[in-house]
Amino acid sequence: MTKAERIKNSLQKTKERRKTQRPVVFEIKLQNLSRKKAETLKKAFLEAKWLYNWLVSDLDRLNLPANKVGTVEVKVEDAFEERQLVVLGSQIKQEIADRLKDNLRALAKLKQNGHKVGRLKPKKFVNSVPLKQYGVTYSLDFARNRVRIQKLGSFRVLGLHQIPPDAEIASAVLVGRPSGYYIHVTAYLSTTFANSSCKLGEDIGVDFGVDSKFTLSNGIKIDFELHETPRLKQLQRKLAKSEKGSKNRRKIRHLLRREYEKIKGRRKDAQNKILAFLKLYEKVVFQEDFVKGWAALFGKQVYSSGIGGLKARLRNSLVAPIPVDRFEPTSQECYACGKRHKLSLADRVIKCDCGWTCDRDVNAARVILRKGIGLSPDQAVGLDRPELKPPEKKAAARILGMSPYIRVSFLQ
Ligand SMILES: [Zn+2]
Repeated sequence: MTKAERIKNSLQKTKERRKTQRPVVFEIKLQNLSRKKAETLKKAFLEAKWLYNWLVSDLDRLNLPANKVGTVEVKVEDAFEERQLVVLGSQIKQEIADRLKDNLRALAKLKQNGHKVGRLKPKKFVNSVPLKQYGVTYSLDFARNRVRIQKLGSFRVLGLHQIPPDAEIASAVLVGRPSGYYIHVTAYLSTTFANSSCKLGEDIGVDFGVDSKFTLSNGIKIDFELHETPRLKQLQRKLAKSEKGSKNRRKIRHLLRREYEKIKGRRKDAQNKILAFLKLYEKVVFQEDFVKGWAALFGKQVYSSGIGGLKARLRNSLVAPIPVDRFEPTSQECYACGKRHKLSLADRVIKCDCGWTCDRDVNAARVILRKGIGLSPDQAVGLDRPELKPPEKKAAARILGMSPYIRVSFLQ
């Protein structure tokens, strides 16, 4: 077999394997950085920026072997100055160029499809560096809790235990944030286990209340504590009072960015836990305006692509969710007989002449579920729909209870 054939062969094999795997990204924090290591990392991001901007300002440079580039010109005000690339590894340089090529290809495709696209511009900051090849540009040492990055050295890390031993580790990205440095490792996990076991139940309806509470049709209520922190407000006040251009102001800015990042992380985490829990059901039914409430609760900035992207993620994440039209008045309707009631916001319980008595939000979630799966009230009553089962309670406590910012309560 020739080398080209061997490569083709192994790509084919990987493609086959990926069919039974799902990608998961793990965030690993670089910790206990010595001053020297912190400097090296800072330098790496700076050099990545120099290299990127050097390539972007003249795309013909992409034809050169990027791994051999040792010196680049950097624009300083109106003149160009030479800079040496000393801390970036050769493969990492190649991967930066490859990523740029990928972006250009994607842009060309968008243009082809009639989208308006601009040119790639030089960047003011680069805060991620690709580490594509596991074993070449980076490697993980699970026994010693370390990551080794080409040419940058070895770093102590926090969070390696999250990666299961049978995971197949692929690419990573080195990320710089106000709170520190991270690597985001993509690993492929087998899906055979996740699919076959641990489905909690068939379908579930979700009602999104005015008070930003989720109520599920089985009686689980989920509440969030994701507001801006007092510390954030305090820092904002301090910033307003600080002198423009002062060192103190810069310091407060940095602390503010860190606080924002923390809140964002909490929201993202809460959101992921909810999705993980809902995924345990075969079908999740929600109303169209659910997506709007979701964005308001978790923050739009969590998804750069906005509401559209979130919708796509809901569709991908939840197994066959059925949107119920937003104009369907679900909160005023009796689940058992379909009769309309006039409930004020103060009425917490719906009590119907037909004998049905239920918490108002749980009733709404049940109506959403019933409509979503296309049943009339009498069909639904005949349905044997058991109340909250012990495994559901357990799973809710295990998944949702892990976040201190989520409160779960059980009705009945
Ligand atoms: Zn009724």
